[in-house]
Amino acid sequence: MENYHDYMVRAMAADKQIRAFAITSKDLVEYAKNIHSLSHLATAALGRLLSAGLMMGDMLKSKEDLLTVQFMGDGPLKHLLVTADYNGNVKGYVSNPSADLPLREDGHLDVGKGIGNGNLTVIRDFHMKEPYSSTIPLHSGEIADDLTYYFAQSEQIPTSVGLGVLVNKDGSVSCAGGFIVQLMPFTKQEVIDKLSDNLNNIPTVTEMLREGKSIEDMLRIVLNGFDIEFTGSKDVRFYCGCEERKDNIIATVGKDELNEMIKEGKEVETSCAFCEKKYKFSVEDLIRIRDSLKD
Ligand code: ZN
Repeated sequence: MENYHDYMVRAMAADKQIRAFAITSKDLVEYAKNIHSLSHLATAALGRLLSAGLMMGDMLKSKEDLLTVQFMGDGPLKHLLVTADYNGNVKGYVSNPSADLPLREDGHLDVGKGIGNGNLTVIRDFHMKEPYSSTIPLHSGEIADDLTYYFAQSEQIPTSVGLGVLVNKDGSVSCAGGFIVQLMPFTKQEVIDKLSDNLNNIPTVTEMLREGKSIEDMLRIVLNGFDIEFTGSKDVRFYCGCEERKDNIIATVGKDELNEMIKEGKEVETSCAFCEKKYKFSVEDLIRIRDSLKD
């Protein structure tokens, strides 16, 4: 995808007692908004989750691993799903992309109400190993909050997640990004106290990005008073890659549905949920795909 300026960084601070990630994701959120025709609310919600997914993907151990985060709620957005890898690729969708709600009293998009009550599931697919999956109830539906609880409950890692997407009146994305800071098990109490003091006093992610702060600056603000060592930087992008696995797009309907389609005897057109790319399948394709499925 052309003209991408999005990237993320990772850092260690306080003598390796803190690890931190930060991302700017304006271009890829704008791209997602355009391909999925997202409402302002859906842009904010999916943009936050795409940003978080990329940082969580950066925590994976190997190039082949995949991370999937899904929010299933009873709010109008219904279902959000994001998949990221270790290489800075992310894709995702909202099941109800046109859902919108009135702004909150403070003028912000009401992502919490948009998602509502429900569950958050994180799945890690390891190459050649059993996937790891964990589900927790949603805390606020604001995404950053919910992920903070996920890390505390499911991974026992004290974590603070900050995410923000600012949508202009015309629906374009003004800025998007976020940070994740985590405490290592041996962190001293004075470091914990100082960091929580910082987190209570920093501007929001969108305030920092809108002022033109870089993500390195954002981490310097979050980790003010600590020594910081930047340990990596990665370009990030919205990338689906379904061309290589296009049979899977139609195979997900299952054998019975495929048999129905074959009986109809017509070419079937369907689109990829992640990137909206359209694919056509001939009856011969459908038969081949059905026969490749296990019972
Ligand atoms: Zn696709």
